[in-house]
Amino acid sequence: MRLILLGPPGAGKGTQAVSISEKYKIPHISTGDIFRYNIKNQTELGEKAKAYMDQGLLVPDEVVVEIVEDRLKDQDCKQGFLLDGFPRTVNQAEALEAVLKGMSTGLDKVINIEVDKEILVRRAVGRRICKNCGATYHIEFNPPGKPGICDKCSGELYQRDDDNEKTVGKRIEVYLDETQPLIDFYQEKGKLVTINGNNDIAVVFDKIIESLEGRD
Ligand SMILES: [Zn+2]
Repeated sequence: MRLILLGPPGAGKGTQAVSISEKYKIPHISTGDIFRYNIKNQTELGEKAKAYMDQGLLVPDEVVVEIVEDRLKDQDCKQGFLLDGFPRTVNQAEALEAVLKGMSTGLDKVINIEVDKEILVRRAVGRRICKNCGATYHIEFNPPGKPGICDKCSGELYQRDDDNEKTVGKRIEVYLDETQPLIDFYQEKGKLVTINGNNDIAVVFDKIIESLEGRD
């Protein structure tokens, strides 16, 4: 399976990525992770990317694509992969098509997790984090035993400044605006699978598997 996973912040993409990658025994390739890996190990590509980042510049598409391509050529991607965080633009998506074509392969599906905006806001606004150990809770969906106190270490729980309705709403709007052209691109190619992500993690995962295996 050669897959891409799309979804707004708060859609539970990270959790689904781990489960999908276990189920199909394919590596979960997060762009953030491969960037950090290349920079930490001072690879040629890492140094290239870092030169831009050090100047506060966006890493250009050609470098991003090179880093992804390099990872996709690793042995563990022979049976497939799950890309997360890439592509972000149609330009990158087109470059990925070319890379895969060059490897005599192509994408199977692009999974797009859709979640209602009000649910995403509710998930974010209720989030609480332990000041001491970093454990995360949710006042509604995963509350601590005692309000405001961490179950694990008794540390004080706090709410991140940007987990407020306004900022979260804005973050989602920006994501949707930026992602729509990408969704249209894959829709036209007949690769897009849209998943209703409003439900529990387990239900959403089942839906993903069903649609990948053509049982929907
Ligand atoms: Zn704690």
